[in-house]
Amino acid sequence: MTQETNELLYRKMFEEIEDYAIVLLDSEGNIENWNKGAQLMKGYTFSEIAGKHFSLFYSENDRAAQKPEKLVAETVRAGSAKQEGWRFRKDGSCFWAEVLLTAIHDDLGGVIGFTQTIRDLVDQRLADEAMRQRIEELNTVHRELEQFLYIASHDLQEPLLTITNFIDLIRTEHAAQLCDKADMYLDCIVGASERLRKLIRQLLDYSRIGKIKTATLVDMNRLLDRVQQELSTDINATHTEIRYQHLPAVQGYEFELMQLFYNLLGNAIKFKKTDCLPIITITAENQGNQWLFRVKDNGIGIEPQYNDRIFMIFQRLHNRNEYEGSGIGLAYCKKIVELHGGKIYVEAMPGEGSTFYLTLNTSLEER
Ligand code: ADP
Repeated sequence: MTQETNELLYRKMFEEIEDYAIVLLDSEGNIENWNKGAQLMKGYTFSEIAGKHFSLFYSENDRAAQKPEKLVAETVRAGSAKQEGWRFRKDGSCFWAEVLLTAIHDDLGGVIGFTQTIRDLVDQRLADEAMRQRIEELNTVHRELEQFLYIASHDLQEPLLTITNFIDLIRTEHAAQLCDKADMYLDCIVGASERLRKLIRQLLDYSRIGKIKTATLVDMNRLLDRVQQELSTDINATHTEIRYQHLPAVQGYEFELMQLFYNLLGNAIKFKKTDCLPIITITAENQGNQWLFRVKDNGIGIEPQYNDRIFMIFQRLHNRNEYEGSGIGLAYCKKIVELHGGKIYVEAMPGEGSTFYLTLNTSLEER
């Protein structure tokens, strides 16, 4: 290729780019040349714009704030500089522009001009704004739901207390008049009240997750030692074997992490098979910026179609006569893992045990 053809191609390439405006400025910031993209973006013909100062595209306020001069000064100092802001077209309409100004130097290092590339970011800005609004709306709904949950569960405690107090009164003041049947009915009411009390407690705890939190470096071996102690009655009664070693320390909310593993191990013990002793294995694998924890059991397993449902609040796969519970434990776990910026999911097969996977970031971004 001759040098002439090469230069022609180079010039054409510059002229014909349409997605970016490329403007050539002299050392004073006056327009010397521009490409097709600039003409489309700004709406002037080249003869209308040639020799004009690039500050023409700025708003009056931005000119008064000397934004063009600041951009030039920064470019001279650093070699290039970026700015974002509203820019005006010939017809007075405006667009959100990302502007990059780059200095052109002579052989002695003096600035002899500038190239300016301009990108219209209106679509991106609108999309960002729509996304920001959506997130804001979701956060509001989320906050309202949490508030509702807290108030509802808090206010439910009072009538429940009245019920249990009156049952006590009936039992103490009218014991002689109570026949066996009435006594049995009262037992049922007491049992149901106790379950309701537990449920309300769990709902309140659920709504409080992450309210008061201080992240620390949590040694997961020690944390699991403590969870084991808490569950020791169940562990001993079922002869459960719990295996883990060399687990990492993760940055997180210790109380919540305790609750998380308490629920997972508690479930692994509760949903054991009847024909073998429960074995639970906890491992952790480093995956760069996160740890993947596995909590594997040899219990009854789960039908794959329920893999997502079990993490929803009050969703259970068995009735209370088969297995005690309220269906809040895994919702609790999900909320805690998400509070740590992670994910939780399960892989299981009926009769073949379950493995709960959870990711915890190695460093925690306070949220
Ligand atoms: P709960 O234990 O109070 O029923 P959870 O939210 O902890 O509530 O669990 C929801 C459901 O998921 C349980 O009822 C059970 O059907 C299933 N599940 C949870 N963990 C296990 C497990 N380790 N093995 C088998 N099924 C499980």
